[in-house]
Amino acid sequence: MGDSAQAAHATLALMKIETRAVHAGRHIDPATGAVTPPIHLSTTFERAPDGGYPTGFSYSRDGNPNRLMLEKCLADLEGGKEALVFSSGLAVATAIIQGLEPGDHIIAPDDVYWALRQVIHGIFGKWGLDTTFVDMTDAEPVRAALRPNTRLIWLETPSNPLMKITDLSAIAALARQTKAITVCDGTFATPILQRPLDHGIDMVTHSTTKYISGHSDVVGGVLVTRYDNYLFERCRRSQNFGGSVPSPFDCWLTLRGVETLPYRMRAHSENALRIARCLQEHPAVEAVYYPGLPGHGGHEIAALQMSGFSGMLSFQVRGGREAAMAAAARCRLFIRATSLGGPHSFIEHRASIEGPKTRTPQNLLRVSIGLEHPDDLMADLNQALG
Ligand SMILES: *Cc1c(COP(=O)(O)O)cnc(C)c1O
Repeated sequence: MGDSAQAAHATLALMKIETRAVHAGRHIDPATGAVTPPIHLSTTFERAPDGGYPTGFSYSRDGNPNRLMLEKCLADLEGGKEALVFSSGLAVATAIIQGLEPGDHIIAPDDVYWALRQVIHGIFGKWGLDTTFVDMTDAEPVRAALRPNTRLIWLETPSNPLMKITDLSAIAALARQTKAITVCDGTFATPILQRPLDHGIDMVTHSTTKYISGHSDVVGGVLVTRYDNYLFERCRRSQNFGGSVPSPFDCWLTLRGVETLPYRMRAHSENALRIARCLQEHPAVEAVYYPGLPGHGGHEIAALQMSGFSGMLSFQVRGGREAAMAAAARCRLFIRATSLGGPHSFIEHRASIEGPKTRTPQNLLRVSIGLEHPDDLMADLNQALG
């Protein structure tokens, strides 16, 4: 890096998030002058005469230039010390749970992302972990669930699919008096709208598959830590030796997505607020769950800890499961698919995705509001709801 590039990086830390989303972690390629980073496919890197690795890279499972750029950028956006990017959001969750000792106790939200329950019970059931699922819209049930062996408090805010809000500072304050590490799944908010580390949370994770990559074309995950801790180190080892690494191309695609993340989140949030307001007035709609609505139970806390309310909302349709399924089937612009955070709007009957044990209401539809014009989206919902 030249002197001028170094000076630019020194001042980057003082700049706004839109600027950091474009510049953090990147540098002009010294060999070619390329502005957009090359994709480094090489699996291995040459050693120096003294046997060392002068660039810091030795083998691509341990580290790769595209991965490092993405990690530096995401750590910067979160205000964290360091980041690890993984081959999926669930690979991060798996590495975290694997970092616990048999017999450790976990506290998680009662409406935690459904597949995390599969990781805890399905994969680690034989490890004898103890898990208490509590309502995290209030700190009191979390306090009541604490045990001397609680080592992990998992948060997810806004939550999936009811968009429940957890008070980040309140849970961080509780955890500080214990040996538990707090990890927040911030997938729905992204570091653009919410920075859990600023509220004292220890680590943040995202499925970068969603808003961060932002184009429904790459699966990935990230873990960002505020400070060095044993669980983060175990995740690093689990990745290096367990092998759940993202490909250089996946990292490159994700980093490209990050460049427009601040502007996309603004548009997703604006569109979703308009649609939430319209749905609230719709006679075929029983209830709307969107933290941007003043009537939402978590609105006040969300307004304090988020700078926008994101593009995710869900609503209950009058007439039960059949009416909800029929409305989803009548959509023409909304695509009937799972996942979220891309430019296309998606609509999904959550309960049937989550299976027979789901706690999600049967007449609930979850939508990921995309980047289409909100008038066109609302016209589609109006015709689908009849
Ligand atoms: C999608 C999702 C995950 C899992 O991420 P993958 O990239 O699909 O493995 C975890 N948490 C939330 C909130 C998600 O939406």
